[in-house]
Amino acid sequence: MENLSMRWGSNIVLDDIDLRLQAGERLVVVGPSGSGKSTLLRLLAGLQLPTSGRLRIHGEPQTYLRLDQRHPPDVRLVFQNPALLASLSVKENVGFLLYRFSRLSEQEIAERVDMALQAVGLAGIEEQMPGELSGGMQKRVSFARALIEDPTAPQSLTPLLLFDEPTAGLDPVACTRIEDLIVRTSELVQASSLVVSHVMSTIDRCAERVALLYDGRFRWIGAVEDFRVSTNPYVVQFRSGSLQ
Ligand code: ATP
Ligand code: MG
Repeated sequence: MENLSMRWGSNIVLDDIDLRLQAGERLVVVGPSGSGKSTLLRLLAGLQLPTSGRLRIHGEPQTYLRLDQRHPPDVRLVFQNPALLASLSVKENVGFLLYRFSRLSEQEIAERVDMALQAVGLAGIEEQMPGELSGGMQKRVSFARALIEDPTAPQSLTPLLLFDEPTAGLDPVACTRIEDLIVRTSELVQASSLVVSHVMSTIDRCAERVALLYDGRFRWIGAVEDFRVSTNPYVVQFRSGSLQ
């Protein structure tokens, strides 16, 4: 991201920010509610265009996503709310892109869906509808959707995985499961990951680096070990839960 800005009318959400995510690293972005974290992820995923500035993935400018096109850089976003399609079954939700784009047979897609659901600990629920599941289960289904592999897709450079508050509102066991999944998947597909989270355990378990977003800018970026002890006023306030 270079000189990246995003405004809504007079509301400057991202103000001329710069950030470089290294291939294969896991970065956790923290910041108060409304500071623009989801906006940042939507820009990276090509769901919105910035007001100004540059956003490049593997050196190529990120363009606005069009659903009728296959998207060349492999960017996957796990949304803040699970955003499952209510009228489709779990299988159809998880396999959505494969049904639409891949050359796999119905049977092969069903196998991939099954593998993705197993990975999130939800084997056997493929025929259920999203409305029949708990919030935490829906969240894990949305993970399976983002993580499903299409062997017929063109080989991508390092994929980029984006997670928007993946562990918010989950109990400690579910939290740990998701945190492990983020680390395992990132390592498995050798992805670069950007995780937005307020949850301290998620920062501890998932981050290599932490970036603190406040009032339109990154106020602190550094290694997670330094984040735990930094005396930067923004970091101190964040750690004590008083950064608003
Ligand atoms: P939270 O922690 O609550 O999820 P966030 O850091 O993800 O917050 P964003 O959702 O990125 O925050 O929103 C940042 C700002 O952008 C907010 O002030 C919000 O009102 C504004 N905003 C986001 N989307 C739109 C939109 N479509 N139209 C107008 N303003 C918007
Ligand atoms: Mg958000």
